[in-house]
Amino acid sequence: MKWEGGRRGGVEDRRGLGGPGMIGGGGIVAVILALAGYYFFGIDPQTVLSGLEAVQGGQQQQQASVGAPQDEAGAFVDTVHTSANDAWVELFQAQGKSYQPSRVVLYEAATNTGCGTGQAAMGPFYCPADNRVYIDLSFWSTLDQQLGAKGDYARAYVIAHEVGHHVQNQLGITDYIQQQERQVSKTQANALSVKLELQADCYAGVWAYRSNTKMNWLEAGDIEEAIGAASAVGDDTLQQASQGRVVPDSFTHGSSADRIKWFKTGFSRGNPADCDTFAA
Ligand SMILES: [Zn+2]
Repeated sequence: MKWEGGRRGGVEDRRGLGGPGMIGGGGIVAVILALAGYYFFGIDPQTVLSGLEAVQGGQQQQQASVGAPQDEAGAFVDTVHTSANDAWVELFQAQGKSYQPSRVVLYEAATNTGCGTGQAAMGPFYCPADNRVYIDLSFWSTLDQQLGAKGDYARAYVIAHEVGHHVQNQLGITDYIQQQERQVSKTQANALSVKLELQADCYAGVWAYRSNTKMNWLEAGDIEEAIGAASAVGDDTLQQASQGRVVPDSFTHGSSADRIKWFKTGFSRGNPADCDTFAA
């Protein structure tokens, strides 16, 4: 991906600031997440984090610098995140709707969020309560080395997927689905969560198409890298790695094949109307 020179909207840089996990309680979070047995993003922070907030005593106030990071890893996140928001500004405008861009926070180990304490072990996630995407950059080596998804475009896909959750939040889809989930069985609720995740994958594909139309920055192998990441973070692949078998009812993100399919669907025309995973 030839991302250098793309527009930079800035990040909230909390790297090197320490965090609430350094004070206490982080161990409990780590244990719970280890039991979950896999890395995931798009975690529902309201479910997981609100319960944990109680154990996080003495959270410290963090002063983050807001601006364009100088280092390459920070600049990459900034550029992709800005590009994703720019794409959605245009798409919303085309429908006469307004769009408030998400913000992106870079942190290390643990940080306070509007959804409770964010932990690096969770992988990148989006918090609907504060409209922010949280990324600990150590996830990139997990993605590369443990999940086998290599390349800059694998990372770009992850960022675009998280912005996809922000789009769902802006459209009221997140709230609507969470309401629905409270009224149905666990299995049905899980199926709805999967559809929400697959839609975020499709939205990542929409970004991939539209940003490339504008920037012409795709290089040979980039889309394969995104597909590799979509596949690597599919719940069947992750569950197989952690339990040695696949348990479809507990899928929350979707199978690898479904994730690839929906990313490709978004990428085929760059049209979010193609991303109605709920009707499919
Ligand atoms: Zn997600």
